[in-house]
Amino acid sequence: MNTKKNSLFRQSAWKIISRTLTTLITVCGAATLMATLFTAWPATGIAANLSSLGWEGANVPGLATTTPHPNFHVGLVAGHWGYDTGAVCPDSLGGYREVDINYTIADLTRQHLQAYGVTVDILKESDERLEGYEANALVSIHADTCEYLEGHTSGFKIAETQSNHRPEQAARLLKCLENRYAAATGLIIDRNRITRDMTEYHAFGEINPITPAVIIETGYMNKDQWLLIDDPYKAAKGIADGIMCYLERQQISPEQ
Ligand SMILES: [Zn+2]
Repeated sequence: MNTKKNSLFRQSAWKIISRTLTTLITVCGAATLMATLFTAWPATGIAANLSSLGWEGANVPGLATTTPHPNFHVGLVAGHWGYDTGAVCPDSLGGYREVDINYTIADLTRQHLQAYGVTVDILKESDERLEGYEANALVSIHADTCEYLEGHTSGFKIAETQSNHRPEQAARLLKCLENRYAAATGLIIDRNRITRDMTEYHAFGEINPITPAVIIETGYMNKDQWLLIDDPYKAAKGIADGIMCYLERQQISPEQ
């Protein structure tokens, strides 16, 4: 996430008020809209483009061969794609661009989900389809700064929609992702650095409020390069596992 892009990444106060009023007016139609969540949706047909990080043509290991779920529909925002570069590492740390990391992980996640039979949209950061977007879940994929911060600058962060009409669903999506991403990557959850750029993420105010949505910072672009650059499969598997945990209503952990 690039915190300097506040105009895009934060919802304006007016937009939040406007959204709330619109929400109240349309709440009576929510039941009808929910019914549409379980119908099939067309795929976007966006071709894989992993050349920037050298993952083009890569075969994703461990794709699912279980019963497909043709009625599930998920949106993945490839953070900053089509808008800007996001964070950029200095040449001394590889010169990596956040947008390339995000797109790579989003596309690998898409392949995992499609192996389960899930219909997936890969969305740009300012994709016009985000306005009123309806799906079983929306996950926006970002990576954290390449700057060294005080303290422990490793780990991942997730924030959920605050004004969702189904807050219990958004909370469950977040819990599933936290659990499965930690299991797949070994990264710790960093709850102490959740920013307003995450909790007030612009897409949260654009999508249909019945769509559960989260934004994930998949790791830090300096200390977590071993994952984000060298092994993005693990990150993608963690996100896909988290989404399937939510869609299939899997048990999150033995304690929950
Ligand atoms: Zn970002």
